[in-house]
Amino acid sequence: MNMREQALLDEVLALLDDPSHRDHPLHGALERLYRHHLEQRERLERLISIADGFQQSAQYDLHDARHQLEHQRRRQRKLSRIADRFQELLHERNQALEDVSGQDPLTGLANRRRLHQHLEEMTDDASQPFSVAMIDIDHFKVINDRYGHAAGDRALIALAKTLTASLRAGDLCGRWGGEEFLLALPTTRLDQAECLVARLGDRLRQLDLALDASGEPTTVTASIGIAEHQPDEDYRDTIHRADQALLTAKREGRDRSRRAG
Ligand code: GH3
Ligand code: MG
Ligand code: MG
Repeated sequence: MNMREQALLDEVLALLDDPSHRDHPLHGALERLYRHHLEQRERLERLISIADGFQQSAQYDLHDARHQLEHQRRRQRKLSRIADRFQELLHERNQALEDVSGQDPLTGLANRRRLHQHLEEMTDDASQPFSVAMIDIDHFKVINDRYGHAAGDRALIALAKTLTASLRAGDLCGRWGGEEFLLALPTTRLDQAECLVARLGDRLRQLDLALDASGEPTTVTASIGIAEHQPDEDYRDTIHRADQALLTAKREGRDRSRRAG
């Protein structure tokens, strides 16, 4: 209420309270008008207070909504960080699984699956020649029979080490199965492969597997079949030809290598 209104009301009240005006013909009407005005003013103040309440609660709601939105955004950012980390872990786990699944658990060499992958990749690079060599240890069963299976395992590990140590960078030696190993020799013609395999045969022959309790050297030999990949040939056929050459080496007395036709 402003000051002018209050002054007017005070003036009217003073007039109404003055006993000399009590019998004035307008006294009753002025008194009713005065009370009516007070009631209206009271009603107006109540309405203003309700409107203020509404405004305040709307502000609270807006503040609340903003707060919730910010909270949700933070949660979303956190969730997306967790999802990213999870993806990374999944990727690392897959990589580890792939590595493990491509590895022979006994010798640590590439397993047959990894060899297939590798040879497929080599075949895809049609510009490069390559050769493969299938190596089979001669009479390996005798090692197991004489010294036991665990000694046989140790022998396979030692043989795998000797084979890998004899290779050039880029060559791959894998365990094809049992006591058979496969070499993948990139950019290698049949003649070069034959030289490399001859060197390898010597190393194997010189290896003492040290299985005999008496201290007598334990040695083995290997039969090897070599094949050069032909243009447009499926690498599986190249392996098959190396395998056939290996059988020839076995038939012809073992401890030797043979070239595939
Ligand atoms: P060959 O000269 O004709 O190749 O004779 P071999 O005795 O080497 O061939 P054969 O196929 O008759 O026997 C292979 C042996 O290799 C028999 C098998 O028990 C042994 N062998 C295969 N895998 C493993 C292995 O992981 N550990 C051990 N200790 N022995 C194995
Ligand atoms: Mg065999
Ligand atoms: Mg054998």
